[in-house]
Amino acid sequence: MSGPEAAYDVFVWSLPMRARFRGIDVREGVLLRGADGWGEWSPFLDYDATVSESWLRCAEEAASGSWPTPVRDRIPVNVTVPAVGPERAAEIVRVRPGFRTAKVKVAEPGQSLADDEQRVAAVRDALGPGGSVRVDANGGWSVDEAVTAIAVLDRAAGGLEYVEQPCASVEDLAAVRRRVDVPIAADESIRRAADPYRVRDLEAADIAVIKVQPLGGVAACLRIAEDIGLPVVVSSALETSVGLAAGVALAAALPELPYACGLGTTTLLDGDVVADPLTPDDGMLPVRRPVPDLGLLEAHRASPERWAAWAARLAEARRVRAVRGVRQDPAP
Ligand SMILES: [Mg+2]
Repeated sequence: MSGPEAAYDVFVWSLPMRARFRGIDVREGVLLRGADGWGEWSPFLDYDATVSESWLRCAEEAASGSWPTPVRDRIPVNVTVPAVGPERAAEIVRVRPGFRTAKVKVAEPGQSLADDEQRVAAVRDALGPGGSVRVDANGGWSVDEAVTAIAVLDRAAGGLEYVEQPCASVEDLAAVRRRVDVPIAADESIRRAADPYRVRDLEAADIAVIKVQPLGGVAACLRIAEDIGLPVVVSSALETSVGLAAGVALAAALPELPYACGLGTTTLLDGDVVADPLTPDDGMLPVRRPVPDLGLLEAHRASPERWAAWAARLAEARRVRAVRGVRQDPAP
């Protein structure tokens, strides 16, 4: 093989999820080994080559590039409370006493605002008055529903830190933001390089949730954060510890990090490719870069069929890359 592809060893992994998430039971991805280390490329299976090419830039930056200099050595992360009953919600927080921030899932289809209210109140009670409670609606409300629900949940929480993605569209986020005092965070509205600028231009959010793979890597995200002038919460895309390390590198390099990050996600996967996973201790992740363990790579090796499918995806993403050019700066 010739060209830049030859510079990388490719490994395809497959790990079961501990619980169904985003409609999937198994998470898969590619690890690339280059001259400077390992990078992870794990675009979700429903993403085409055009979208997945940004994810590839993140992996290649890790494998054959460098990350910005860290300005901190520990990253505060949140505990996530799924749309469970109040007793279970309180238990999830109580068994993790070091976490100072809880993110509570709300607006779950088939549940009521009263369910959300009880869950949020239970989490506040378990976390104590000093912690921060944020909610994530995953775009599940209309503008009017959001305005009503945010008032109710802000009261139940004794003050919400922020509301993540109350509605699906950027326009609706902007409309909600004009009608409530609780800060609004954009998550699903930021998936491609141009999206953060649109959120900024429409004044749709107070906070940007940023993921390094979809936005093309650590340096690209650092530039976006600077350009949009909004506080950033770094979140994962359900990666192994190899992919997560890129998110940790971004969180470590941001000049300001006022909020806990959504990087405490290794436990959502049933296993990891490193022997020393990036798992939070006392609500904090250490800033470090674990290296794959050869035995674990073998244990989590994808089947020959899945390996071939990922090799084909990778070839397609590289074709997109060849057309676009190696570097592509985000739209201003
Ligand atoms: Mg979210």
